[in-house]
Amino acid sequence: MVETLHHWIGGERVKGGPSFGDVFNPATGELSAKVPLGDAAVVARAVEAAQAAFPGWAATPPLLRARVLFKFKALMESRIEELARIVTSEHGKVIDDAKGSITRGLEVVEFACGIPQLLKGEFTEQVARGVDSYSMRQPLGVVAGITPFNFPAMVPMWMFPVAIACGNTFILKPSEKDPSASLFMADLFAEAGLPKGVFNVVHGAKDAVDAILHHPGIAAVSFVGSTPIAEYIYRTAAANQKRVQALGGAKNHLVVMPDADMDQAADALIGAAYGSAGERCMAVSVAVTVGGAAEPLLEKLVPKARALRVGPGADPASQMGPLVTKEHHAKVRGYVDLGVKEGAELVVDGRDIKLQGYEKGYFLGPCLFDKVRPEMRIYKEEIFGPVLSVVRTKSFDEAAMLVDKHEFGNGVAIFTRDGDAARDFAARTQTGMVGVNVPIPVPMAFHSFGGWKRSLFGDTSMHGPEGVRFYTRLKTVTARWPTGIRAGAEFIMPTTR
Ligand code: NAD
Repeated sequence: MVETLHHWIGGERVKGGPSFGDVFNPATGELSAKVPLGDAAVVARAVEAAQAAFPGWAATPPLLRARVLFKFKALMESRIEELARIVTSEHGKVIDDAKGSITRGLEVVEFACGIPQLLKGEFTEQVARGVDSYSMRQPLGVVAGITPFNFPAMVPMWMFPVAIACGNTFILKPSEKDPSASLFMADLFAEAGLPKGVFNVVHGAKDAVDAILHHPGIAAVSFVGSTPIAEYIYRTAAANQKRVQALGGAKNHLVVMPDADMDQAADALIGAAYGSAGERCMAVSVAVTVGGAAEPLLEKLVPKARALRVGPGADPASQMGPLVTKEHHAKVRGYVDLGVKEGAELVVDGRDIKLQGYEKGYFLGPCLFDKVRPEMRIYKEEIFGPVLSVVRTKSFDEAAMLVDKHEFGNGVAIFTRDGDAARDFAARTQTGMVGVNVPIPVPMAFHSFGGWKRSLFGDTSMHGPEGVRFYTRLKTVTARWPTGIRAGAEFIMPTTR
C-alpha cells in the first residue's frame, strides 16, 4: 500500500487533492507516495486558517514567538536522522548531505530566535521641541512560500522561520516531487506549541501556485525555483499587489587562475559539481581555466571524477546519489548527448552507469566536458545534474568577462593565491555571492542569500537582515503629548525650530 499524503491546514491533516501526483524513490524508481494536488479551494481554506491565526500571533510578544522556535529547533535536532532519511528517500541525495542541508536550514531558525533583537526599531528624542519619533517593523499578514525539489527542508527554512518570527502566518507550497519533509516539519511545529494556523502546508503544482498568486488575502510571496517560473511568479504576484522575492536558476562558474593550489581547486570542483548530483542552485557547473591552468587541473580532476562512488543515497558509502525523477534524468542525459554533438570533448562519460539491484533508479555518473565554448547550449543553459564543463580562457580579463556575460548571476568563485586578482574579481563581478578559494559561497543564516541578474527577481535576498526587511513593513510614529509645547493651528509644512 502506497501512502497518501495530506495538506496541513489550521493545525490539522486535511485529506483530498482534488487530484493526486506520484512521488518516487529515485534510487529504486518505485512509487513511494501519492501527493494531493491542491486547487484554489484548498488554498482559500489555508488562507482562511492563516488569517484567523494572524491577529493573535502578531500580538504575541517576539520573545514568546522566539521560544516556540527554540523548541522547534530542539525537536528538529533530536530527529534530524529521521528527516534526513525522508529527504534522501524522495530526493535521492546522500544521507550526510541531507543532514548538512537540514543543519544549514536550522541555522536560519537559530537566527530567527534572535527576533526580539532583530525587530528593535529606532527612536529619536526631540525631532522637534516636545516631539519624539520612533520606527517599528510590523508583520505583513499571511505570507506564502513556494519551494523547489532540491532542498525540501532547507529552502522552506530560508523562509518560514523568519516570516513566523516576525509575526506573520505562513502557507508553504513545497515541491510536489518531494513533499514529505514539509509535513514532518509541520508536525514538529505543532509539538513545539505553535498555534494552529500559523504554519500551513498546501501541496500542489501550477493550480495551487496560481491560486496563491491571485488570492487577495496573501500579502507576500517568496519563491525559489527555476528562472522561467521565478519570472512568472515575480510578474504575477507584483501585478496582484503582493510583495515578492523570486530566486531563479544558476550557472555558477569557478575561475581557476594558473597560480591556484590545483589540488584544492580540483577537490573543490569535484564536491561542488557532483555533490547532490549537481542538483544545487550553488553547484559549480563551469570551470573557467585561465592561461596554463587547464592541463594541471584536468590531470587531477579526471581521475577524481572517475573515482566518485555513485550509489543509493541511503548507503553511507555513496558520495553521489541518483537524480530526482525519470524525466529529469532524461533531460540531463539529453544535455550530455547534446554536448557531444556540439563538439565539446566528453572526457568523463557517466551515461552508461549500471548499479546492481538499482537498475530502475535514476542514476547518472559524473560527466566532464573539456573545451566547451560559450556559444554552446551546454554552456548557456542550466543543466542541473552531474555535468561539469571546462571553458579555457587566455587571461583573467577574458575569464571575468565570460562570467559577467552569462544571463545568471547566482554564485561564482575564484581560486588563486593572488590577493589583487581576487579582490578585483570580487569587486567587479556581476554576481550575488562570491567565493575566494571557497567553491560554494552560500552565505550564513545571519547574512542574506540571493543572486543577481536572472537569478533573482525582486529587491531582497532571503534570510538574514534582508529576510527581516522582506517580512515586515516599516511604520514611523511622530508623537507629542498634551503637556508638550502648544503651537496652535499651523498651516505651513512643520519644520524644526
Ligand atoms: P521549478 O521551477 O520547476 O519548481 C519550483 C516550484 O514552482 C515548485 O513548487 C513547483 O511546484 C512550482 N512550479 C513548477 N512549474 C510551475 C508553473 N508552470 N507554474 C507555477 N508554479 C510552478 O524548480 P525545481 O525543478 O523544483 O527546482 C530546481 C530549480 O530551482 C533550478 O533551476 C535551481 O537552480 C533552482 N533553485 C534556485 C535556488 C536559488 O537560491 N536561486 C535554490 C534552489 C533551487
